Amino acid sequence: MTDFPAHPGACPSTYPQALTVDDFRRNLARVRQRIEQACVRSGRDPATVRLLPVSKTVDCARVRLSCQAGCRELGENKVQEAYRKWQALSDLPDLRWSVIGHLQTNKAHLVARLAHEFQALDSLRLAEVLERRLQLLGRGLDVFVQVNTSGEASKYGLPPAEVIRFVRELAVYPALRVRGLMTLAVFSPDRARVRQCFVLLRQLREQLCQELAGGAQMTQLSMGMSGDMELAIEEGATVVRVGQAIYGARALPDSHFWPAPASHG
Ligand SMILES: *Cc1c(COP(=O)(O)O)cnc(C)c1O
Repeated sequence: MTDFPAHPGACPSTYPQALTVDDFRRNLARVRQRIEQACVRSGRDPATVRLLPVSKTVDCARVRLSCQAGCRELGENKVQEAYRKWQALSDLPDLRWSVIGHLQTNKAHLVARLAHEFQALDSLRLAEVLERRLQLLGRGLDVFVQVNTSGEASKYGLPPAEVIRFVRELAVYPALRVRGLMTLAVFSPDRARVRQCFVLLRQLREQLCQELAGGAQMTQLSMGMSGDMELAIEEGATVVRVGQAIYGARALPDSHFWPAPASHG
């Protein structure tokens, strides 16, 4: 899959590696500025958009530098990598971990242990296993339901038409606090197509709020990454998940992180 930037001037392959605390301070300031400008353009308060730094593939030494520069929460796509870093960085106080990638049920216990938030919930079987593990630990977990808004077979997440029923069925899992919806937009140079994914997620949230008791608590929209955060914010994102614009370009192709479900189960 070719990864075109959805936003001119935001070409992920050109982000330089951040190697010092100052590099991270500068990159974080740039990202916050992009968020702020997108908010100003769309008449939103920047305080309503949370920046989730995504540290996947970044080694612990550099992650540590980013924390010194101000990162207080970290998103990881793969739970085993999150687990490794969670252990290695356990001396950092108040660091919060968000798992943002597809999860197999046999690794749910790791998320239950380490994560404050899980953004890729897309099956009831997984919800059930997470609930059981969380109950054993006496913990709760903020969750986002992942939606496949692009219709691509290579993307995880529920088809939009199944979201309302799915969220309704989650009510029997009290340890899972449903905060909202998450999506990955289509990778396309066609900004209108990217925007359409974000619009769809926002419309689904409106439907949730209207049709579900408790829907008023499910207002979060996690959408937008290094290449398309402006579009996402214009369409209502409350969480943007940003990796490369903070840490630098990744060598691994994105297909490594969201392969076709058929090939990975
Ligand atoms: C890697 C990743 C991101 C961040 O992408 P960047 O291009 O590094 O900003 C966001 N969401 C998910 C689910 C990811 O795996």
